[in-house]
Amino acid sequence: MNQAHATEHPAAAPAAIRVVQPEAPPRDVMGGAARWEIPCLDHGFVALVDCMPRLVPEGKTGDFAVVQSARVSYGQGTKQVSEDRGLVRYLMRHRHSTPFEMVEFKFHIAMPIFVARQWIRHRTANVNEYSARYSIMPDRFYRPSVDAVRKQSKSNRQGGDEPMDAGTAEDFLRLLEKAEHLYQDYIGLTEKGVAREIARAALPVSVYTEWYWKCDLHNIFHFLSLRMDPHAQLEIQVFAKAMYEMLKPIVPVSCEAFEDYRLESMHLTRLEIEAVRSGKPLATENRREAAEWEAKKARLGLA
Ligand SMILES: Cc1cc2nc3c(=O)[nH]c(=O)nc-3n(C[C@H](O)[C@H](O)[C@H](O)COP(=O)(O)OP(=O)(O)OC[C@H]3O[C@@H](n4cnc5c(N)ncnc54)[C@H](O)[C@@H]3O)c2cc1C
Repeated sequence: MNQAHATEHPAAAPAAIRVVQPEAPPRDVMGGAARWEIPCLDHGFVALVDCMPRLVPEGKTGDFAVVQSARVSYGQGTKQVSEDRGLVRYLMRHRHSTPFEMVEFKFHIAMPIFVARQWIRHRTANVNEYSARYSIMPDRFYRPSVDAVRKQSKSNRQGGDEPMDAGTAEDFLRLLEKAEHLYQDYIGLTEKGVAREIARAALPVSVYTEWYWKCDLHNIFHFLSLRMDPHAQLEIQVFAKAMYEMLKPIVPVSCEAFEDYRLESMHLTRLEIEAVRSGKPLATENRREAAEWEAKKARLGLA
């Protein structure tokens, strides 16, 4: 059919907007601020720039939106604050996750590129990053403190643990400084006309990038459970912990439930349950699995 001649059926026309005023005056969960910002590492930051819900009924927190959407599936029920808390905790315990997706946070973050590479693996966020094709990278490079130059861990091939001796740590920091000197050459060559998109290849991954990162609460909790964990790289832990500090005052009940049922909880495998039940050693020949069980037993006070 020729679209130009299509006429709208009267029944398809939208009705007028019906505006419903809130029962109580709304409260801005960010207290009217433009942003909340926590400095991270030497030049980085995590800044909360917006969230949903931003306005909540007086006396409520952002957890209100979790409860509101959950009640679609559980019915109206009663609306006491204590029961809201019980509902949020029930949802978290039973991994009924979609109500937590109704809350969103938008952050502006500045972090070294090697941190950004780990962060971007979390695919459920919406991200818009600074373009080093379009703009010159600012002169900001991460240099850890001497104490933060870690020795390669023997138990964890992916990690570092105790600090290096001061002399070797200083050698490493001098190497980073040398890499930073490439910045002047980068600027010089872009001034001679080398395209920014190729010139940036000369910069080390300690250079800082920035992005806006928006994600719902369910997936932020997933991100935080992985990146606040001691197994995550120290530098990304710093950002994750700063982010969590900003969530807590806005969704305190959800955060408490997250800590109780996820962050500080423990998963037991079938073999582990069997070992507890029988009082026998874990039925595995895998040394790593056996070591993980020993760590869990210590936490449970069974060792
Ligand atoms: C300590 C640590 C070490 C790591 N080491 C490495 C490493 O050596 N090499 C490496 O490459 N990565 C590594 N990673 C990254 C890791 O493998 C994950 O890519 C990253 O943690 C993101 O996790 P995710 O996929 O669960 O998160 P998200 O991408 O945020 O996804 C959240 C959840 O959504 C679902 N989901 C999202 N997208 C899809 C999809 N396309 N298909 C199916 N389900 C989907 C999954 O259930 C997923 O758990 C490491 C991560 C950590 C924390």
